[in-house]
This record gives sequence, C-alpha cells and structure tokens, in this order.
Amino acid sequence: MPALFSSLHRPLRVMIAGRPNVGKSRLFNRLIGKKQSLVADIPGLTRDYQEGLGVFSKSSFLFIDTPGLDGMDEKFFLTPHMHSQVHDIMRTCHVVLFLVDGRMGLTHHDSLLVQQIRKRNNHIQLVVNKCENETTVQGAYEFYALSLGDPLLVSAEHGNGMHGLFSSLEGFDCLLASQHNSANNNTPQALESSPLTLTVVGRPNVGKSTLLNAFIKKDRFIAHHQAGTTRDATTTTWTHGGRVFSLVDTPGMNKKNPWHFLESLMTQKSLRALAFSHVVVLVLDGTQNFHRHDAFLSNLILKEGRSLIIALNKWDMVSKHKERLHYFTKEVAPFFSFCRAPIVPVSALYGKNIERLLDQALHLESCWDRSFSTSSLNAWLQEALRAHAPPLAKGKRIKLKYIAQIKSRPPTFKIFGNQLHELAPSYIRYLQNSLQESFSLEGTALRFVLKNAHNPYSALKNPPRNSSKKKRASGG
Ligand code: GDP
Repeated sequence: MPALFSSLHRPLRVMIAGRPNVGKSRLFNRLIGKKQSLVADIPGLTRDYQEGLGVFSKSSFLFIDTPGLDGMDEKFFLTPHMHSQVHDIMRTCHVVLFLVDGRMGLTHHDSLLVQQIRKRNNHIQLVVNKCENETTVQGAYEFYALSLGDPLLVSAEHGNGMHGLFSSLEGFDCLLASQHNSANNNTPQALESSPLTLTVVGRPNVGKSTLLNAFIKKDRFIAHHQAGTTRDATTTTWTHGGRVFSLVDTPGMNKKNPWHFLESLMTQKSLRALAFSHVVVLVLDGTQNFHRHDAFLSNLILKEGRSLIIALNKWDMVSKHKERLHYFTKEVAPFFSFCRAPIVPVSALYGKNIERLLDQALHLESCWDRSFSTSSLNAWLQEALRAHAPPLAKGKRIKLKYIAQIKSRPPTFKIFGNQLHELAPSYIRYLQNSLQESFSLEGTALRFVLKNAHNPYSALKNPPRNSSKKKRASGG
C-alpha cells in the first residue's frame, strides 16, 4: 500500500518522475522559472536530484527533479544510493508528476514505471510532454492505458499547458489538506477496514428485514407481517468470511406514485443510504408479479452508480419454480435490461440461498472496483461495432475509434470518435449491455464518457497557430 505522508507541510513536495529523456529537467526548469537543471537530449544526464520552488498565483510548490528511471534496469543504471534516494522521494513526496513523451507514445517502460510508483505513492498526475502539434495531441489518448485518469498535455519546451498543470497541483493541495484533516479525526484502522456497504431495498412486506436477519442469523432487524414496520434506514456492522459488511435496511415504499416514494426516501434518509452503498439488493416477492416501482427503483440504483442484485424472496412459497423463474428472467428481465442484474431466488425465512446472495455481493463489489486493460477493451469495442454498426448521422457513419477506462467505482470509460453526440441512447445502452456481457459485469453500473476525437484536449489547442490562421482568414 502506498505510504501516506504523516503531516501536511507546505509547500507541497512534487516529484517529477519518468523515463530518461522525456523532458523532466526541461519541465522542472519551466516550473521553477529558472535554468537550474542541466538540460540536454542525452538520456540519463541528470545524475542527482534537484529541488526548486515554483510559484503560481498564491500557491508555491517544491519541485524535485530526479534522474530518469526506466522501470526495469535502473538498478544498473543508477548507483544503489541514487536508486534508494529516488524511491524515498517517491514515497515521501505529496504528488508525483509522471511525465511521458507524447511524441514517442506509450512505451512498455512507462507502464512498468507506473507500477513501481503506484506501490509507493497514489497521488499521481499523468503529464504528456512534447505536445506541440495536433498529431501528438491526437495520439495522447493512448496514455489512458496507464489508468491514471485524464492526462495533462504540455510542452515544457514551449511552455504550453503550465497553467493547467499548476491548477491540477492546486487541486491536489486541497485534496491532501482535506484528507489530512479527516485522517486526524479517523483512526487508521477505521480507514483500512472499510466495510462493504450492502443496502436492502424493496416494496413493503417483501421480506427485507427478514433477509437481513437471515444474513446475520439474529433478530436485529424488526420483521413484521404488517407493511411499513421499518421506519428509517437502519445500519448494522457484521463480519462474514473475514469481510466486514455494513448492512442497511430501508423503509419500504408504500405510496402509489414512485415520485412520492422518492420523496419519502429522501425524507427518511434512504436515498442517502443508497448513495453510500457499494451493492444494493432489490428484494421482490417471488410469489407476486413484478411492479413498476421495482423497475423505477432499479433504475434509480443504477443511476446512482451502485451495483444491483435482485433477490426473489419467499421462494419457499413458490410451487412452480421453473415457471416462476422463467417469468422473472424472461418476461420481467427486459425491464431490467439496462443493467442485466443477477437474479437470485432466496427464502429469507428459511435461510435458503443466502450464501449465494452474499457471494454475488462480493463479486459485484470486485467488479465495481475492477480495472480493464485498454487492449481488451478495444478488442471488445471492435467486436461490438462489427456485431451492430453504429447508425448514420447526416449521411455519415458515426465513428467510435478508441475506448479507455478512466476510473473505477463504478467503472467509467471514455470513448473517442466522431459525431458521438449524435449517438442514440439505445446504441449506448447496447454498448453497455455488450460490455457487461463480455466482461461478466451483470449488475454493475457502467458509465460512458463520449469524446469527439477531433479535439480531445481542447485545453491544449495551439492558440498562436489558430489565431494567426484566423487573422489570415479574416484580415485578407
Ligand atoms: P419488509 O417490510 O420488507 O422488511 O418485510 P419483513 O421482513 O418485515 O417481512 C414481511 C413478512 O414476510 C413477515 O411476516 C415475514 O415472516 C415474511 N417473510 C419474509 N421472508 C419470507 C420468506 O422467505 N418466506 C416466507 N414464507 N415468508 C417470508
């Protein structure tokens, strides 16, 4: 686990890390506004680390320029002393600016180096250097494969992108300050053993409280045959198979209109419970037919980015299991088609199939947190496009060119292409369903961010060139 600094001394210490010759020293000089580091196009020229103060607006940062690491053979390339010195800096600095070469593109050594940095520090800002021209800017999206989020595109040589870089550091400053404050209020143990928050929702009397009692094998949650017994969201902490669960029971909704239900959810803090859940179990009464409230609820859960399991309760009272399951999986499933949530028949009263439900919850939690390789995502995208081509827009086929994961919890993907704003929601749903099916993500809320590839990084347009073009066009 990366080490967290124990105290937040200012100015923030910002390490510039990257392979040799990606432009670390040039960036360092640019950030501190002086020519302190020796700069040349010879790999590994910087032999010792340098520190320099950079000031932006009202903030200042202590930048540290380090010798180039290539993630593989730096043990041979650096002296043992320098090697351990660099790793110490990596571990103790507040932020690592991970610099890559936009002209050269992503290399295997970049990926190896990111793995090393991640072990020591999790505050990493990806910076793509040498982005002086549009081709480099266009190609920079391949760095999403490093799973470090949105890259900042800069040119240390020309000074482009410095404002964005300093703004990002200011963001880290705020984040670290708030983490530091809350760390002072929380015990480290509490932070480490963060529980799996599992919330149980459903219409009244479907057996939510009974199900929660079946989990913990106690009568902690009040179960009653009259509707509306549970008046507010109730939480209890429970350990199962070495995993800590925070179980949340919510009041059933008894209003006819789902909007009224939503209102009652808000007043009774259940919506808040949903927002803080990892996995939500929507309980249906297996003996009764599907209700539109259930579709409404599942939609709400997925919009919140939570993972969803459907529990068909009271299965002990169902006589024709096969027919009933067919009804829910085939006839009702289209209502849930946007999420393809796993459906688990259970009997809360008799404790049947409870383990399977909990296994599903653990599986969904891991899906929520999962990282996907860019190559497997792009292989999937090509296959999905072949199976069902995107529609035409203004006589031209909408193009989806590239996909990369930008974050997890829930898994969020950025798709680059042309005319993506013309894509119908039904096509996006098709992509979501196909991705869920291909990667066994049924029940996991997936998010897509669409980005037109002609200008993926609007912040780094080349203003001088554009403005001179404009001048020529307008000035004649
Ligand atoms: P809630 O309002 O959704 O929390 O529902 P409760 O847990 O209070 O249960 C409502 C009624 O359904 C109670 O009488 C329970 O005993 C009954 N019940 C719950 N689960 C089952 C089950 O699996 N099988 C049967 N037969 N009854 C159940």
